[in-house]
Amino acid sequence: MEHALVSEELGRSPFGHFVFNCQAPDAGNMEILMEFGTAKQKTQWLTPLVRGDIRSCFSMTEPEYPGSNPVWMATTAVRQGNEYIINGHKWFTSAAEGSAFAIVMAVTDPKAEPHRRASQIIVPTNTPGFKHVRNIPCMGHTGTDWASHAEIRYENCRVPCENLLGEEGSGFAIAQARLGPGRIHHCMRFIGISERAFDLMCSHAARRELAPGDKLGSRQTVQNWIAESRAEINAARLMVLQAGWTIDAKGTKDAREEISLIKFYVANVMMNVIDRAIQVHGALGISDDTLLSLFYRNGRAARIYDGADEVHKTVVAKRILRRYGLELH
Ligand SMILES: Cc1cc2nc3c(=O)[nH]c(=O)nc-3n(C[C@H](O)[C@H](O)[C@H](O)COP(=O)(O)OP(=O)(O)OC[C@H]3O[C@@H](n4cnc5c(N)ncnc54)[C@H](O)[C@@H]3O)c2cc1C
Repeated sequence: MEHALVSEELGRSPFGHFVFNCQAPDAGNMEILMEFGTAKQKTQWLTPLVRGDIRSCFSMTEPEYPGSNPVWMATTAVRQGNEYIINGHKWFTSAAEGSAFAIVMAVTDPKAEPHRRASQIIVPTNTPGFKHVRNIPCMGHTGTDWASHAEIRYENCRVPCENLLGEEGSGFAIAQARLGPGRIHHCMRFIGISERAFDLMCSHAARRELAPGDKLGSRQTVQNWIAESRAEINAARLMVLQAGWTIDAKGTKDAREEISLIKFYVANVMMNVIDRAIQVHGALGISDDTLLSLFYRNGRAARIYDGADEVHKTVVAKRILRRYGLELH
């Protein structure tokens, strides 16, 4: 809850979370190192990460397999003596360029039941065989460093077995533990972005004249957008805070429905508000002279990462239908 509230304020600026060193994917990596890391892993990786001396990335999604089905992937980590040998192809490993280490999701036991097949392993990015293929151009921007999404190949990457996070086969469980609070952070950041876009929309509507003395904000269409945006942002914030409260009071597992509800709802509220703000600004809204185009470009991905809208809607609906006697798998 505390970080949720801070996250909204930080979200108003694209640099907010970075300035306070609580940006994705580092914040999530800090959380899982804190919860599942050994004392040695904490000293070696968590302390410098929290201090802001190094950055990190999280390498789970693969181009050839659906990220929406996290138990189906091809990257393997084979134990040989005291080492794991990792081979695989990942992409959208955000902020990999310049990171000191990646937390890699890899199959350690292909014969185990699906949710116990994979493990998470810390791979320093200077390990021989860690190949940064490229930063993937997204919506016309390739980005660098922390503002990029990388394609990575792991080619016979050897790391000591002590780099295993948690126990072998717990990769899926750790990913779930990471994503619950992570979605609260993201959603509150989305609300900060929505508030900033809302401010820009209202100030432009109050300032821009369609004819001398005839303000844009006098048009009912614009007033509707302002009122609808205000209602949607207020509703979204309360939903996120309720989900945050449920995580704190009952744990991530019991907040599963609330977490999925906010993830798709708030991402769409943010996109609606940004879209209306762009429309109010006219050509200026499309230009890079305001923050709106950056928000729009980056915001679109929010309906895909950390679970696509459709996946979260299915999670919610299945749980509701279960209460009506319909069990779906
Ligand atoms: C900006 C950005 C940053 C990212 N950062 C990271 C990162 O740091 N590390 C990392 O490992 N990954 C990262 N990802 C990847 C992200 O986690 C995946 O994109 C996401 O899990 C979806 O997987 P996919 O892209 O393979 O789409 P797929 O799983 O192939 O799904 C494609 C589409 O199919 C639909 N769909 C999927 N499942 C269902 C369903 N059950 N019912 C109905 N429709 C469905 C959805 O519309 C979905 O968008 C990032 C992605 C983006 C866009």
